[in-house]
Amino acid sequence: MNGKQLAAKTHQLLVNEYGLPTWRPHLSPVSELVSTILSQNTNDLNRDRAYDTLRENFPTWEEVRDAPENLLAESIKTAGLANQKGPAIQNALRFIAEERGKIELDFLRSKPSQEASLWLTNLKGVGPKTAAIVLLFSLDMPAFPVDTHVYRVTGRIGIRPDKMNAAKAHTFLAGQFSPDTYYAIHLNLIRLGREICKARQPLCQNCPLNKICNYYENEKNQ
Ligand code: SF4
Repeated sequence: MNGKQLAAKTHQLLVNEYGLPTWRPHLSPVSELVSTILSQNTNDLNRDRAYDTLRENFPTWEEVRDAPENLLAESIKTAGLANQKGPAIQNALRFIAEERGKIELDFLRSKPSQEASLWLTNLKGVGPKTAAIVLLFSLDMPAFPVDTHVYRVTGRIGIRPDKMNAAKAHTFLAGQFSPDTYYAIHLNLIRLGREICKARQPLCQNCPLNKICNYYENEKNQ
């Protein structure tokens, strides 16, 4: 199987196992951006708590942008790294306001996905994963976010070269999977990574992908 066939087979086996994830309503692009910055190095619950407190304390993005740093850090402290995430959020909001004259990102819809991603990664503290999350989940554009689970599982299966770094994996994996499958395969790979293909002890015997997986094949032959 070549890389694209392996990617397609992976998608098909995960749909057989988990089904097609239902599309859920998502946040506005700016909200998604802020929420994704908050999500770095924490879990979904702490991210959501921090996001909700931030919106309660500073209901508009202009207020968030102009908030005193210490009050902003206090509002988002449940997400951790508040002294880094606060400035990253304010820098992003300032940049958007300066470039666009207002704090909104809906204009990205009219750009090709690659160009929209470049625009977002010009924001300090916004990498390819955050950009892809905003594009895929909020703007319904073809982008492929590579989080820690997606990175690990695709490396083990053999869809991407073993030593390729996460930044390069975004473009590479986007070329291996079909764009119409990005949403489903992204969510299903995360689910597999959390439930079965765990970082320390993958449960290969129970894995729906064990017949096509490089890692499992190598383990069997040792
Ligand atoms: S067979 Fe094992 S290593 Fe391969 S994807 Fe499944 S759990 Fe991960």
